[in-house]
Amino acid sequence: MSQPAVANLIGGQDARHGRLERLHAELSARCPTCRLRLNRNGKTMLSLRGRPGASVVSVHVGLLDHPDALTDLPEWIASNGRRTSPRLRHALQEVWRDQRQHHLAAIPVALPDLDYLPTPFNLAALFDHIHTTWFVHLSKPAIHWGRNSPRRRRLSSIRFACYRSRPQPAIVVNPRLGQPWVPRIFLEHVLYHELCHHAQANAPIRGEPPHSRRFRQWESQYPHHEIARAWKKVNLERFLVG
Ligand SMILES: [Zn+2]
Repeated sequence: MSQPAVANLIGGQDARHGRLERLHAELSARCPTCRLRLNRNGKTMLSLRGRPGASVVSVHVGLLDHPDALTDLPEWIASNGRRTSPRLRHALQEVWRDQRQHHLAAIPVALPDLDYLPTPFNLAALFDHIHTTWFVHLSKPAIHWGRNSPRRRRLSSIRFACYRSRPQPAIVVNPRLGQPWVPRIFLEHVLYHELCHHAQANAPIRGEPPHSRRFRQWESQYPHHEIARAWKKVNLERFLVG
């Protein structure tokens, strides 16, 4: 049974390789100033960065399985990423869906029954609880909800909250987190994450990236860290839709 599967896999790789070479050739002929990069990061299906004349197009490796759609790529680049042909759009959706399925299959944690907060809930009280339980040695930043974005707008990514240390330490929470289907541990996890940024700001290390090894180590101390992360993977799409 394993032989054909392996053969298919190798065949698939060969086909991708051939398509990649053709794509390189096509792009260097039609968009000579645009560099091609392949990604398999699960977030970016297709992106264009830089300026016309010196740009980088990042293509998810899964798009190589859609050779028809790839022929529309030079036009997409020429329009500066504004005009997506129907077949390119369709291919992007398929790659995105495949990615999501892979992603979900890779989640190791079975989700237990989760606890929910009343709607609307008291953000300040929840924050107080997290601060008092784990970060009482630090000052308490201000906390408030961010502005409501139009509910129906579909997002391509979401920032759940953000922390700033100046002029006064403050955390702003995305109002999309205030929905009744968001479990308590996920909200707590977001607040805990932002308080780790506060801890970082209180013990700065020059040149440290925001999500450094030290930061990740602190963040993982939240007792439901793994469940919250697994829950996020399963539910991210719901946040994006609004
Ligand atoms: Zn962060």
